[in-house]
Amino acid sequence: MRPRLSTFIVACLDARVDPGRIFALEVGDAVVMRNAGGRVTPAVLRDLSVLGFLAGSVPGGSPMTPEVVVVHHTDCGLARLVDPEAQRVLAERMGVEPSQIAAMAVPDPYQSVLTDLDRLRSAPGVPDSLVVAGFVYDVTTGLLSEVQ
Ligand SMILES: [Zn+2]
Repeated sequence: MRPRLSTFIVACLDARVDPGRIFALEVGDAVVMRNAGGRVTPAVLRDLSVLGFLAGSVPGGSPMTPEVVVVHHTDCGLARLVDPEAQRVLAERMGVEPSQIAAMAVPDPYQSVLTDLDRLRSAPGVPDSLVVAGFVYDVTTGLLSEVQ
């Protein structure tokens, strides 16, 4: 249950983005959580809390220094969510406020990774030992850039 690398990856569910392949992962290496945009949402934070608790409560297990890696990508479909009309239509369809849709937008993956790293660091209950890292995956070149 506990990821061998103590790593939790949050990535976009875009079919061109395959975290297992990008990071050359083997089964059991990391927990990969995917959603639209790879955004750090309240649902992701909730899952991280549960997974962190479960991984930390393994009987006889050694302490784990968890690392969360956020991966956004170029040409993300969620760039379209900056359009107020798209926000309105999708919000209506999902039964949420347009502002929630606007918060999902990825017009600039380098900026949205920084936003999500801040969300991780400032989330309540996040251990001081948590290591976070952010990357942008270029779907054209297949190159990965770390966001500082
Ligand atoms: Zn995407």
